[in-house]
Formats: sequence, C-alpha cells, structure tokens
Amino acid sequence: MRITLMGPPGVGKGTQADRLKGHLEVPHVSTGDLLRDAVKQGTPMGRKARAFVESGELVPDELMGELIAERLARPDAAEGFILDGFPRTVEQVAILERVLDRLGVKLDRAVALTAIEAEIVRRLTGRRICPTDGTVYHLESHPPKSPGTCDQCGSALVQRADDNEEVIRKRLEVYSRQTLPVMEAYRQRGTLLEVDASGAPDEVFEKLKTGIEG
Ligand code: AMP
Repeated sequence: MRITLMGPPGVGKGTQADRLKGHLEVPHVSTGDLLRDAVKQGTPMGRKARAFVESGELVPDELMGELIAERLARPDAAEGFILDGFPRTVEQVAILERVLDRLGVKLDRAVALTAIEAEIVRRLTGRRICPTDGTVYHLESHPPKSPGTCDQCGSALVQRADDNEEVIRKRLEVYSRQTLPVMEAYRQRGTLLEVDASGAPDEVFEKLKTGIEG
C-alpha cells in the first residue's frame, strides 16, 4: 500500500502515520523529520534547508525532489510507504509521479486529514516532543505522567522550534496557499480520500482504516 497523508500542520499526520505504519507494516516517511535530521546533522541538504524549515517556509521543490527520490528508492520502501508531509505543492505532485514511475509503482491513496484552525493552533501550541525517542505529548490531551519528562525514557521534553504562535500562523498561511491546490489535483485524479481528523486519535484512526480499506 502506497499512501500520502496530507493536511494542515498539527492535524495529526504524524500520529496517524505512526499507527498506520504498525497496521500496514510499511515505513512512515516524514519529510519534516528527514529535514530536521539533516539540519541537526549539518549535512549539505540540512545546510540548504535550515532557514526555510526554521521560518515555516517551504523548502524549494528541487531539493525536496532529491530528498524524496533517495528515500523512496531504499529497500524498506519497496513494498509500500506512508508519506507524511509530501507532496505539498502542485509541482511536488508531478515530482512524486516521476519518482514512482521510475520505480514502476503507483500511489494508491492520497488522504486529506481535515480540522478547523482553532483546533490546529491548540494542538500545535500544546505539543511537546521527546528529543531522544520522538514520543509526542500534548499538555492537555496527552500529558506525560511527570511534567516535562518523557514517560518512556525520562528525557526532558522540548517544543519544536516552529511550534510557536508566529511560525504556526505562517505555516497555516503557506498551507492554504500552496497545499490546498495539491488536494484538488488528487481529487481530479480520483485518488483523494477526505477524513475528518477533529476527534481523538483512536476515533480518527478507525475512520482512516475504514476509508483506506473500503
Ligand atoms: P512538518 O514536520 O511536516 O510540519 O514540516 C516542517 C517543515 O519542513 C515545513 O514547515 C517546511 O519548512 C519543511 N518541509 C517538510 N515537508 C516539506 C515539503 N514537502 N516541501 C517543502 N518543505 C517541506
């Protein structure tokens, strides 16, 4: 199964992709995570992408094309993948098609997760992350047992640098301008599946599974 999960920042793409990964037994490929790792390690890709990622702007399509072509050609993605955060522009839709054509495969579903803006801002401002094992918490809806500390490994939780109100507004603006047309492109191709992501993670996951398998 080859799927892309789309939707505004904070709608729960990462959370749902993690669950789907266990269910479908294919890797979760998050372009945001790949870029943050590259920035942290100071690779050539990371050095070129850094300023865009930190300001909430999109990394140029050409760089994203290189990143995604390399990742999807790895052996663990041969039987399928869940893309999270790609494609985000209409040009990236074409890039993905070219990459998949070369690999001789097709995208099965483009899933659009939807929620209202107030809910998205609430989720993002309360989000806290374990820098060691990547566990995601929320101050209100999924707090750690001991404040500020990861339940799994005891590391001090951090906030993503771009999860502050100013950058969140920027990311939402970029999303409406550049990513909404991507959904339209998939609607026209007949591969779009829209799922209401405003409920609790378990509820959303049930709807997602039904939609994908239906
Ligand atoms: P995310 O974790 O998906 O919210 O992505 C974090 C940041 O990484 C975004 O605000 C962009 O700067 C960059 N990014 C992630 N995916 C893409 C993409 N497909 N195209 C361009 N930039 C991206």
